[in-house]
Amino acid sequence: MDEIIEEIRDAERITAFTGAGMSVESGIAPFRGEDGLWNKFDPQEVASASAFVETPERSWKLFKLQIEECLESDPHKGHYSLVELEDHGLNSVITQNVDGLHQRAGNNEVLELHGSLKRLVCQSCRHSFMVEEFLDDIKEGHIPRCECDEILKPDVVLFGEGLPHDILQRAWKEAENCDLLFSLGTSAVVQPAASIPAAAKKSEAKIVEINLERTPLTHDVSDYFLKGKVGEKLPEIIDRL
Ligand code: NAD
Ligand code: ZN
Repeated sequence: MDEIIEEIRDAERITAFTGAGMSVESGIAPFRGEDGLWNKFDPQEVASASAFVETPERSWKLFKLQIEECLESDPHKGHYSLVELEDHGLNSVITQNVDGLHQRAGNNEVLELHGSLKRLVCQSCRHSFMVEEFLDDIKEGHIPRCECDEILKPDVVLFGEGLPHDILQRAWKEAENCDLLFSLGTSAVVQPAASIPAAAKKSEAKIVEINLERTPLTHDVSDYFLKGKVGEKLPEIIDRL
């Protein structure tokens, strides 16, 4: 811990890279692990681009659950620690999460690699809506439709879809230009996002990983590994700064 505090004091540019584990303490289920969504849903059957085209009503069962979960959740202490870290050099949060909790906590620069549940987009006319407009329908189990009658899709990246190009470019730049990167609550297996810590390391940044368990990053990429909850470890770090 002492060394991590020194690294933060020495760093000029800090970036955080976050995954589903960042939101678990807010009550949002991750994909993998014991309580993960993939124990309830088969990813290829619901969360792939082709599944959405073939059986959108099935995909919407997952989306409904995710949207309701997000709306009932609030940022936790770990999210607020990342806001405080901006006073100590944090430049950006690169997130794989689609729940919008980093923005709600108040971080300035949040790069959403996998999109956001906040918006719904028409696949036909590209019209975009705020999810709140359709909340009552969604809660009643109806599938939201565009004015052109097409079924709407949350503006999130499904399996088989590419990541938003400009966001990915900006995230890559942040990774290459930072001197310290925090990898927080990610299993680091979903590509290309999972390569971001390695890209930072290649540009000589130090990597601090916080996770409940070891990941593919722990041995090869991370300089420091803190085993535990992000909602406990991050406030501990902030308290010592
Ligand atoms: P993941 O589900 O694969 O892994 C979660 C990781 O978080 C695991 O390594 C786990 O050990 C760790 N973890 C769980 N609770 C933790 C805690 N309290 N503190 C620290 N670590 C904790 O998630 P991923 O790596 O983000 O990748 C999977 C995909 O999941 C992403 O594409 C993302 O878009 C999507 N997803 C997002 C949300 C969300 O927006 N909150 C929720 C579920 C899935
Ligand atoms: Zn439309």
